[in-house]
Amino acid sequence: MTSLIPRDTVKFNKRVTNIQQNNGRVFITFQDGEVVETDTAIGCDGVKGFTRGAVLGSRYPDLVNPQYSHRYLYRAIAPMEDAKRILGDRATDAAMFMGPGMNWSIYPISKGTEVNLVAFKQDPRGAWPYKEYTHQVDLQTMLSDFEGIDSRLLKLLELYAKPIQWSLHHHITTPTYYNAHVALLGDSAHATGPHQAAGAGQCLEDALVMSRLLGLVKRAADLPTAFRIFDFLRRPRAQKIVQTSYDAGEIYTFAYPETGSDMAKVTANCNKRFQWIWEHDLEADVRVAEKMFRMETGDV
Ligand SMILES: Cc1cc2nc3c(=O)[nH]c(=O)nc-3n(C[C@H](O)[C@H](O)[C@H](O)COP(=O)(O)OP(=O)(O)OC[C@H]3O[C@@H](n4cnc5c(N)ncnc54)[C@H](O)[C@@H]3O)c2cc1C
Repeated sequence: MTSLIPRDTVKFNKRVTNIQQNNGRVFITFQDGEVVETDTAIGCDGVKGFTRGAVLGSRYPDLVNPQYSHRYLYRAIAPMEDAKRILGDRATDAAMFMGPGMNWSIYPISKGTEVNLVAFKQDPRGAWPYKEYTHQVDLQTMLSDFEGIDSRLLKLLELYAKPIQWSLHHHITTPTYYNAHVALLGDSAHATGPHQAAGAGQCLEDALVMSRLLGLVKRAADLPTAFRIFDFLRRPRAQKIVQTSYDAGEIYTFAYPETGSDMAKVTANCNKRFQWIWEHDLEADVRVAEKMFRMETGDV
């Protein structure tokens, strides 16, 4: 990353502990005691990011913390040779295995020398009961989460997964991505479940639109205008990704009423649910953003 921007404009190993704004000035406090006064702060600090509180805390305190999406997962990486021995030709495919209350995603990684396996478990509990987002269990608990599943998949889990439950949290509702001179970008705005593999893509789309808008800002007083346009363009699409990813998780675990466990309906749904994500015209978004900014600020 540092090869793309002047090295002395980046600082590493800093942790934000407070963000406040007053009359168009933003004050960022770091754990090492340094306080920086600046025109703006854009928080790309992830699902549990601190900036979310600075943007939403005073107006929507209940929406600052991520919500439990009622799913956790176990992860494993297996050598391809072993996976082939256990799964046969399936090991070299990208595949989703589905069943009531559970689904498994497998795909080759490391230039085909290994298989990545993610085993999802639907969780009826209303809230994640632990402070940390991961929770260690014993091998038997992990295996019993997938009782009844094909024994070949269970074998892979038994041999290669650590019995750690990774809870999935998301920001299913975010009523705004900015507050005056402070904005949210990436997972801090719209952390999503992984069921459409679209979370990081949304972060990049944010970055594209935000960077092009910031390139037009000549006065600090115009930053809220840039953020309002960013919010207007990006929030509907990114929040739709969060909702439809949740729905996809429901579909894969046969919990979605429209598709149930009817594989013909599940397949038909999956065959058409990604196009709007993949085929979106981002350059058109950028053109609209730039046009709106120029019109609203008079900077033609
Ligand atoms: C199981 C799983 C599978 C996924 N699979 C896919 C996929 O296939 N495709 C896809 O597109 N997306 C996927 N995603 C989503 C993707 O990983 C995220 O959307 C993306 O990584 C978010 O990037 P980010 O930069 O917004 O946040 P993060 O990657 O979380 O980065 C946030 C950064 O902020 C730093 N930070 C936090 N707090 C502070 C602070 N107070 N001060 C300073 N720094 C701070 C953190 O240390 C971290 O470096 C998946 C997610 C999960 C959980």
